[in-house]
Amino acid sequence: MGLPVKITPAKAAALLIGLPLISLAAPDNFFDGPGQTPSSHQVQIPKARSKPIIEDPRLWITIPLPNNKEARSAIVNLGIAIEDVGGGNVGGVGTPRMAEELRQRGYSFTAMPLRERFALDFPAEDSIYHNYERLDKALESLASSAPDFVSKFPIGQSHEKKNIWALRLNTTAAHGQKSEKPGIVFMGTHHAREHLSTEVPLLLAQYLVENKQKPNIAKLLNTRDIYIIPMVNPDGVEWDIRDGSYHMHRKNKRANGRGSIGVDLNRNYGHEWGQGGSSPDPDSDIYRGPEAFSEPETQAIKNFIEQRKDNIKILLSFHAFSELILYPWGHSYDPIADSKALGAYEAMAKNMAGMNGYTDQQSSELYIASGDTTDWAWGAHNIFSFTFELTPKNFWDGGFYPGAAAVQTAFHANIRPALYLIDIADNPYRAKAHGGI
Ligand SMILES: [Zn+2]
Repeated sequence: MGLPVKITPAKAAALLIGLPLISLAAPDNFFDGPGQTPSSHQVQIPKARSKPIIEDPRLWITIPLPNNKEARSAIVNLGIAIEDVGGGNVGGVGTPRMAEELRQRGYSFTAMPLRERFALDFPAEDSIYHNYERLDKALESLASSAPDFVSKFPIGQSHEKKNIWALRLNTTAAHGQKSEKPGIVFMGTHHAREHLSTEVPLLLAQYLVENKQKPNIAKLLNTRDIYIIPMVNPDGVEWDIRDGSYHMHRKNKRANGRGSIGVDLNRNYGHEWGQGGSSPDPDSDIYRGPEAFSEPETQAIKNFIEQRKDNIKILLSFHAFSELILYPWGHSYDPIADSKALGAYEAMAKNMAGMNGYTDQQSSELYIASGDTTDWAWGAHNIFSFTFELTPKNFWDGGFYPGAAAVQTAFHANIRPALYLIDIADNPYRAKAHGGI
């Protein structure tokens, strides 16, 4: 989802170096955005490249915008995936057609090719991160190290027929066996480039296995049904790091035709699918797919949850970045209707924010986003569902690619919230914001 960022004047200026500016007069009658009256827009025309490394038509678009969710939602509703919020600007990924739409609506903005904005090399020190093959081995090793309570199984396959692996920690049931114990599921990497969101749930699994003798951990392991699915989008992950460098790939690998790749898996779930904050345009980074659950990856999660909806009480989907704790709704500015449940959500979110220092809020406070995991899990099954946007807090501290040190930072920040959720999975309504649990 989103990733607010502060853009300092110096850094903003650095972005502009080497890019000629063209100012155009604004067609006032076209402007329908909230809260501002742009008098001109500036379109940056990037320098011609003699030899593009890869064909990627996407643009990095920076738009001066009032700091409110309605203004941001108007942008995402054009199909632009917002990645930064701060310093009076939003930044995000769009296509030339979306930039033209902005121009016609009278927005002021700058645009440059994404591949030039993020021409990053894969640093050797990032080898701590797990690609698909290394994740498979790490999960296998965990399962074989503690066969009495850890099992590994696929919940489905990706477009490219990679297994989507789940690890289950349960002292009385393995693989697909039913369990009466209160259940919780942790997920990572719906969005390919958010590699840190694979590492945190994987480290959580390792932590639980390695600390099984500690009384507080043993109690959780004995009384809960814990699932960990660290990489929901393995095709996208491999595509993002395909030639030893990062490619800012967000979506899965569906072939949309005409060279367009991918569906945004976190806009493909089936509660209020196709509403605001998702795009019908296959070229958009927030393309929602041809229909709800059109993708094998979201189908796998759907089937997995539906087979276990009787005992799974809580879901946490890790994303990156921004340091946020988000809860439904994402598709609407309205809070969820059930006031008792809303109180539990708010209390849990506030307690966890006290542990990891993140900001807790309803998902749509950032901007509208429909078709995400948490809206569906709550809307369809009343599973208490959270999205964590992991470290860093902003784009200029590493963004999607924060380096090896961020793995430990993010894990240490989130181990207590994770244990808290496992504990309270027996009855999330126990949550109290102040004192108690
Ligand atoms: Zn994400």
